Amino acid sequence: MTMQIENHPRSKKAGRVKVIQPRTNRDSGSLTSAHPSLGYTNGRDNHDSRGIKAYAAQSATAALGPFGIQRRDVGVHDVQIEILYCGVCHSDLHQIRNEWNMTVYPCVPGHEIVGRVTGVGREVKKFKEGDLAGVGCMVDSCRTCSSCQAGFEQYCEHDPVQTYNSKDTHLGGVTYGGYSKSIVVDEAFVLHVSDKLNLAAVAPLLCAGITTYSPLRRWKVGKGQKVGIVGLGGLGHMAVKFARSFGAHVVLFTTSPEKGADAIRLGAHEVVVSKDQGEMNKHLNSFDFILDAVSAEHDINAYLNLLKLDGTLTLVGLPQKPLGIAAFNLIGRRRQFAGSMIGGIAETQEMLDYCAAHGIVSDVEVISMEQVNEAYERMLKGQVKYRFVIDMASL
Ligand SMILES: [Zn+2]
Ligand SMILES: [Zn+2]
Repeated sequence: MTMQIENHPRSKKAGRVKVIQPRTNRDSGSLTSAHPSLGYTNGRDNHDSRGIKAYAAQSATAALGPFGIQRRDVGVHDVQIEILYCGVCHSDLHQIRNEWNMTVYPCVPGHEIVGRVTGVGREVKKFKEGDLAGVGCMVDSCRTCSSCQAGFEQYCEHDPVQTYNSKDTHLGGVTYGGYSKSIVVDEAFVLHVSDKLNLAAVAPLLCAGITTYSPLRRWKVGKGQKVGIVGLGGLGHMAVKFARSFGAHVVLFTTSPEKGADAIRLGAHEVVVSKDQGEMNKHLNSFDFILDAVSAEHDINAYLNLLKLDGTLTLVGLPQKPLGIAAFNLIGRRRQFAGSMIGGIAETQEMLDYCAAHGIVSDVEVISMEQVNEAYERMLKGQVKYRFVIDMASL
């Protein structure tokens, strides 16, 4: 495998981009058709022979492979996007392996989408052909419930329509995600993406970025505060960057001492190896806020004890088993234990604009579509710094 490191002058401030796939067929000047005639089998019906190239899992035990899908015609409020990059989120792996027991097959994952607008409906106001655009974890919601009205579409009382594996109200079946050549989304759920940042490194902002930005904002993390980030993965590395950028004193907790130097490079002021009880004890009752980005089983009480009076620990990871919380660890110092899930559309746009203004992107390793199964295996072993992003020119 050819290893090639690219320098991206426009994202100098933050983010390290490693490319492991020589880009032989990228012609940045011309866009390929959003509906290439590729002879792929069509996943939904037989009367559209123009399958749009995608990668899908056909069962919980199958590897991802080529699959042809259909996208709806561009409606009056729709934006059609040629997908340039799609991030690989850990939840993609949970979903394709049916670890949440709700996957409908075939499943086309991907909810960290960056691309270019190739068509818009006649009522579309926010976008025009040629614009850069992003799509995150949601493609629609009821828009009328109190959560939606307040701009918290992610907490829609009728559940938002997720980018993949949600009921597709237009075509039937389920929605198909970003591991594909193109997507059609209502403009209300499409984000503006700045051309100032490296596009591959922007893709993970659509999930990992907003998942960490939103709680750090909600709990008003900033100057004069001591903030802990638990876990240095796709989520954690973004949390470190944001918390540092917001002016907090940032402490990164990890079980892997070898991640220390990287955590400091990403913006942490201190690194604590959480297995070292002596180190942990030095921080008892001292944190204003802790963001826990770990999905593996771990002792939550060890972190609750680090919060000072009225401190909050917010969970963004998804441990499979229920967490055992000792009551005294909460009531003793009026501590709060909370959760947070992605962010609303307006806040996601705010986050993308903040990143453009401050030169913040994800640290990514760009892969080709056919490397995705191998990437999942490496992700499971924690061998990614810190997000895989698929170059859709390779599909
Ligand atoms: Zn995600
Ligand atoms: Zn709603």
